[in-house]
Amino acid sequence: MTLELKGKPVADQIREEVLREVEAWKARGIVPKLCTLIVEGDPASLYYAEAKGRAAEKLGIEYELHKFPATVSEGLLLDVIGRLNRDPEVHGIMLELPLPAHLHAPKIAEAILPQKDIDGLHPDNLLAAIKETTGLYPATPKACIALLTQYGHTVKGKHVVMVGRGATVGLPLMHLLLNAGATVTVCTSKTPDLSVHLKQADIAFVAVGRAGLIQPEMVHEGLILIDAGINETADGKIVGDVSADCLASSAGLSPTPGGVGTVTTAMLFRNLMDAMDLQIPVKEAR
Ligand code: NAP
Repeated sequence: MTLELKGKPVADQIREEVLREVEAWKARGIVPKLCTLIVEGDPASLYYAEAKGRAAEKLGIEYELHKFPATVSEGLLLDVIGRLNRDPEVHGIMLELPLPAHLHAPKIAEAILPQKDIDGLHPDNLLAAIKETTGLYPATPKACIALLTQYGHTVKGKHVVMVGRGATVGLPLMHLLLNAGATVTVCTSKTPDLSVHLKQADIAFVAVGRAGLIQPEMVHEGLILIDAGINETADGKIVGDVSADCLASSAGLSPTPGGVGTVTTAMLFRNLMDAMDLQIPVKEAR
């Protein structure tokens, strides 16, 4: 039976859990606080940053949006991150990407204290995810797996194809999948024919950034597809990497919008709660 794996029920469940934890923190005299840094120039990033602010408000989380002009220096951004790292009342820090070309995004992102890095993209957190040690695991890969498992599927013992090995999604997700017991095939821009691999897979995660990359003739009726790609079409629509027509030719597909992105937004707040557990020893809570 074909299934649309919508993100909302999964995100709702994560938010309910977060809300309970926020209330517990507040009862102990601590207000969770998240700060986002954004450098002006990318309207989509501003939209997402403001949407996170609205989501934080609904959860009772304090949210601070730090906006900088496109000409901001690397030094100033690093100073602000340093100040937020040292501020005990700030529990999570996010850097909206992309940054203008004169700024070295990895250097700035890596300045965020790993325990406050709720995106989970700091090298220390990536290493923790690979080695299955304590840390904040990458939010979008976690969201991809949560979306699949909440619909009753497991990757354990399955042949999983990962399309894309980008630093944000594919690479960390590949490690989470291996750790969860999947047999993983990773496809990149050099893979000659994606359909050869997709035809043999039980589950496929796609994170490339190319609209319509996966077409119905490339999949099969037993395949479950989780689409993390985000693309804007010429007429301003947001679509994934997998053609929506694949829904009829597969066993399941997550929609875009309304799939992985929806769960990722909730997962960032899940990571904020985990960040607080890492930062605040139980005895310090008032
Ligand atoms: P990225 O760094 O941009 O890398 C893209 C990957 O796709 C690379 O590994 C590249 O291969 C591969 N690729 C390019 N063309 C391909 C093709 N024809 N066939 C197979 N693989 C191909 O990726 P990212 O930062 O991880 O982002 C991936 C997508 O996820 C983007 O659309 C992004 O907007 C989206 N995203 C979504 C969320 C969410 O919440 N839903 C969050 C973050 C990102 P090579 O390695 O060979 O170059």
